[in-house]
Amino acid sequence: MTATVIDGKAFAAKVRGQVAEGVARLKADHDITPGLAVVLVGEDPASQVYVKSKGKMTREVGMKSVEHRLDASVSEAGLLEVIETLNADPTIHGILVQLPLPDHLNSDLVINAIDPAKDVDGFHISNVGRLATGQKAMVPCTPLGALLMLRDHHGSLSGMNAVVIGRSNIVGKPMAQLLLGDSCTVTIAHSRTRDLPDVVRGADIVVAAVGRPEMVQGDWIKPGATVIDVGINRIDKPDGGTRLVGDADYGSCVKVAGAITPVPGGVGPMTIACLLANTLTACCRANALAEPD
Ligand code: NDP
Repeated sequence: MTATVIDGKAFAAKVRGQVAEGVARLKADHDITPGLAVVLVGEDPASQVYVKSKGKMTREVGMKSVEHRLDASVSEAGLLEVIETLNADPTIHGILVQLPLPDHLNSDLVINAIDPAKDVDGFHISNVGRLATGQKAMVPCTPLGALLMLRDHHGSLSGMNAVVIGRSNIVGKPMAQLLLGDSCTVTIAHSRTRDLPDVVRGADIVVAAVGRPEMVQGDWIKPGATVIDVGINRIDKPDGGTRLVGDADYGSCVKVAGAITPVPGGVGPMTIACLLANTLTACCRANALAEPD
C-alpha cells in the first residue's frame, strides 16, 4: 500500500483564493481593505525570507501589507511603542511579530502587548485561553493549517485517536487543543514519553512536530493512519548541498500510512494561507461583519 500524498501547496492555493474572494467582497460591499502588519526585529536570514514571502502573499490576496523592520538593538520600550501604534491603527487588522526575538527582548511581554483581536498568530495569552476553553479565538496558523488538511481529507475526525509529538506553545499544544475540539482522543507525546513508537502505533492521526529530522519511522505507524509532518529541517546531502526534510521518515512512512503530508509542500504552505485567513477573520470581527466559513 502507498499513502495518498496530501498536496499542501494546492490546498494552500485554494485557501488563499477563498481569502482573496472574501477581501474582494469586503472592498466591493463595504469599502474596507484588511491590513496585516509584520514586525521584524534584527537580521535573521530565515525570518527575512518568511517576512518577504508573507508581504508578497498578503498583497496578492488584495490586502494592505505593512512591514516594520527594527534594528536588532531596539529597546523593549521602542518595540512596544511600534505595537501600540499598530494597535491603534484602524487600517491594521492583523499584527504579527516575527519570532524568535533577540535575547534582550521578552517575547511573552511583547506578544501580550498586541491587541488580542489583532493577534493573527494566536499567541496572546487571551487567545490561548480562549482556544483552550472552546471560545472564539485567533488560532495559531501552523496547527490551524494542519487541522484544515485533516478535515479536508477525512471529513469528520470525531472519535479518532490522535498522537501529537511535541508540546511547544506554537505547534504541539494548540494542535492538541484543536484535535480535542474536533472530538479526537488526543495524546501529547514529548521528549520524556516512554516507548514513543508504541504510543504512535495506536494513532489514527500522527502529528509530528518535534524538530528532529526524519525521526518518526514507518514501523511506528499503524497501517492506514494519517501522518501530518509539521517538521522543517535542513540537512546536508552527500554531494555537499542541503535539502529540506520533515520530522517523519517519508520513505518508510509513505509505504504504511493511508495519507501523508510531504516536506516541502505539505503543512508549510498552509501556515501563510491561514495567516491571511486569520487576518480576514479579524477584519470581519472588527467591523461586526459575518465571518468567512
Ligand atoms: P520546539 O523545539 O519548540 O518543540 C519540540 C517538541 O518536540 C518539544 O515539545 C520536545 O519535547 C519534543 N521532542 C524533542 N525531541 C523529542 C524526542 N526525541 N521524542 C519526542 N519528543 C521530542 O519545536 P516547534 O514546536 O517550534 O517546531 C516543531 C517542528 O515544526 C520543527 O521542525 C519546526 O521547524 C517545525 N515548524 C514548522 C512550521 C511550519 O510552518 N510548517 C512552523 C513552526 C514550526 P520537550 O518539550 O520534552 O522538550
